[in-house]
Amino acid sequence: MASNALLRLQGVVKTFGTFTALHGVDLDINEGEFFTIVGPSGSGKSTMIRLLVGMDEITDGAIWLRGERIDETPANLRPTCMVFQSLALFPHMSVGQNIEFPLKLRNVAPAARKARALELLDLLHLPRNYYDKRISQCSGGERQRVALARALAFDPEILFFDEPLSALDYRLRKTLEKELKDLHHRTGKTFVYITHSLEEAMVMSDRIAIMKAGRFEQIAVADDIYSRPVSRFVAEFMGEVNLFEVTGGAGTLTGAGLSVGPEARQTELADGEEGLLMVRPEYVQFGDADSHFDYAISGRLLEEYALGSRIQYEVETTDGQIITVEKLREDRASVRLGSDVTLGFDAANTHLIAER
Ligand code: ADP
Ligand code: MG
Repeated sequence: MASNALLRLQGVVKTFGTFTALHGVDLDINEGEFFTIVGPSGSGKSTMIRLLVGMDEITDGAIWLRGERIDETPANLRPTCMVFQSLALFPHMSVGQNIEFPLKLRNVAPAARKARALELLDLLHLPRNYYDKRISQCSGGERQRVALARALAFDPEILFFDEPLSALDYRLRKTLEKELKDLHHRTGKTFVYITHSLEEAMVMSDRIAIMKAGRFEQIAVADDIYSRPVSRFVAEFMGEVNLFEVTGGAGTLTGAGLSVGPEARQTELADGEEGLLMVRPEYVQFGDADSHFDYAISGRLLEEYALGSRIQYEVETTDGQIITVEKLREDRASVRLGSDVTLGFDAANTHLIAER
């Protein structure tokens, strides 16, 4: 089957008894890509990755690797490797023995195994004398690096990751996100990564797929997922967002208490068609009587939260909708809690979703 994709899924279905976990999924993953699948718990992420590495069998459809069907190829004959959430290192073995384990299974000679293990310690920025160190003497971050070294030992074409960082504390997670991205650059391998964290996905990925109840809702580069979501689900999944229920008519929009300026022409929604007008909190401005915005709305400042480098505001509109505004700390607004405010934003910073 002709395809430029490294990995291709076609109509992949997975059922467990009467329950359908994957509803005919199509997907192309390109060579060298950092591809992330994001979705809430139970959406089918682990199920999908288990099918890809051969830990489970598909119910229907096909999986292709470089144009060859692999869905009936046993896991140990696929050029792929899985990195799990629980690291599954052997605690009674040394770091070196852990890294060499997959090579030993493939009958690689001891000297060649050790040479490869030392190379991988270098790649993962671990000192070479860790070769003889016990796993129990390694910190959480070091163990994660050992697990990565072991995953890379037999030079797999694709590395799969199933929420490998979710059990770690925040700081370590942030460090390892950057290291993983860096490792991806240095190895040039294809990474397929699963997480339920939008932040993690945004930091590392070339492309992101948003999964919902066994289907892909949207597959796009991170920036498009953030600024041009196709649905309310994707918009709300990718962080704080303001959504206004609007209706099209006469080249403009009405609804949600918005005052729409003459320049805010729109033709995406037909007359009477309903949609959601989206604006992210960082694009909402505080205005005054002299401000000219494409979209304006009035309300009352309810709360102000300090988020480190940013300040978040909550404004309740006259219609009772809560709007989130975010400013850099240095641009902190001089508005008092409880006071009446006018908010505004430009059409260029909005996005229309054709659903309610
Ligand atoms: P995620 O990794 O996105 O949290 P999973 O892929 O683990 O989700 O699970 C998706 C759905 O499939 C869940 O509803 C889960 O209960 C169900 N499921 C997964 N594995 C099995 C199984 N072996 N038997 C029955 N149901 C399963
Ligand atoms: Mg899972």
